Amino acid sequence: MAYQISDECIMCGACEAGCPVSAISAGEDKYVIDADTCIDCGSCEATCPVGAPKSN
Ligand code: SF4
Ligand code: SF4
Repeated sequence: MAYQISDECIMCGACEAGCPVSAISAGEDKYVIDADTCIDCGSCEATCPVGAPKSN
């Protein structure tokens, strides 16, 4: 399953810069992950200062 970003996201943008497949983009009130593009590498989870990206 792809990673998803929770409402804890503070829109810092760090995960977008680190995603190797550019699956992350800014949404309305949080960043969002394109499930079809995400390869489950875990980089966003490791980078995020608030632990918003979670694997399902
Ligand atoms: Fe990108 Fe990896 Fe996060 Fe998926 S788990 S959104 S591939 S950084
Ligand atoms: Fe949101 Fe975390 Fe990504 Fe920053 S690194 S944009 S807080 S999910």
